[in-house]
Amino acid sequence: MRVYNFSAGPAVLPEEVLQEAAAEMLDYQGSGMSVMEMSHRSKVYDRIIKEAEADLRELMQIPDNYKVLFLQGGASSQFAMIPMNLMKNKVADYIVTGQWAKKAYQEAAVYGKANKIASSEDETFSYIPDCSDLPISEDADYVYICENNTIYGTKFKTLPNTKGKTLVADVSSCFLSEPVDVSKYGLIYGGVQKNIGPAGVVIVIIREDLITEDVLPGTPTMFRYKIHADNESLYNTPPAYGIYICGKVFKWLKKQGGLEAMKEYNEKKAKILYDYLDESSLFRGTVRKEDRSLMNVPFVTGSEELDAEFVKEAAAAGFVNLKGHRSVGGMRASIYNAMPIEGVEKLVAFMKEFEKNHTEA
Ligand SMILES: *Cc1c(COP(=O)(O)O)cnc(C)c1O
Repeated sequence: MRVYNFSAGPAVLPEEVLQEAAAEMLDYQGSGMSVMEMSHRSKVYDRIIKEAEADLRELMQIPDNYKVLFLQGGASSQFAMIPMNLMKNKVADYIVTGQWAKKAYQEAAVYGKANKIASSEDETFSYIPDCSDLPISEDADYVYICENNTIYGTKFKTLPNTKGKTLVADVSSCFLSEPVDVSKYGLIYGGVQKNIGPAGVVIVIIREDLITEDVLPGTPTMFRYKIHADNESLYNTPPAYGIYICGKVFKWLKKQGGLEAMKEYNEKKAKILYDYLDESSLFRGTVRKEDRSLMNVPFVTGSEELDAEFVKEAAAAGFVNLKGHRSVGGMRASIYNAMPIEGVEKLVAFMKEFEKNHTEA
């Protein structure tokens, strides 16, 4: 029996996609083998990766002057790869809105001067700072954000004013959850394990002028965007099976009506949960309302014992992975693209029942 999986990542995938992959496991479209077993240089695999890229380009309306790279090492590998490739002046500005942005910032400091130009750490990352007029460094190579903060449940609703500098964004946990204007970014990347596919694959969408030979001395070949761009993500063996699943998810998203439709659906889903959190006398959300994420919804009861009891009872009822991140405590429901609306409705019904049983009449 499938459960309602509220994990922050690796996370729920569309059941249809899993079933299709299962059906193709032993014999992918007459090839007589699994996608896991085939050469990444074969014609049949070439079609898989090319179609995945074409579908992603269509979904996100990626302009022609951007390259799409399917890489590995997860989102975390990009924490180093970005400065190694983009820090021409060895200066970059970081907006620190959570643990993932902080890790990226700390990694960049290994390679150059990383400036923390804004942070919300003073209030446990429960809000997005005002980024309309930040002290952007004159010689900054880029301005970095984590667009959706998986752990804390906040999201940038407006992009920062970078004062003309290149914007770099980690979109791991909001990838393909709503339309984006790719042209506003120099580089967008995301680990796919949150909203798209199996862990390990990271997708980088990068404007062509940022792909150069001029990288920091000592940058490993595998960490150069140019080598992957020149080889169309096939410089070495890519995470072939993972990319195949991503491709299936792209097709699934197209069938759902694309990113406009996903946004509408995601807003509807999140509203059910947030509306309840706002009216509940037991549960409450932990972040500033205007910065709430559509994907990750942290909440607490105010009592650690009750939080633990809730997580336990919820799991027994088939709502799993609701425990909050160890740095925040409480609960977190991640309601990515593939979480059906019934999952959220049933979770809220369960929360109401729990509230009734645990508050004095
Ligand atoms: C999960 C996550 C990461 C790290 O992803 P890995 O694939 O484990 O490296 C980075 N950034 C954000 C926003 C995430 O949610």
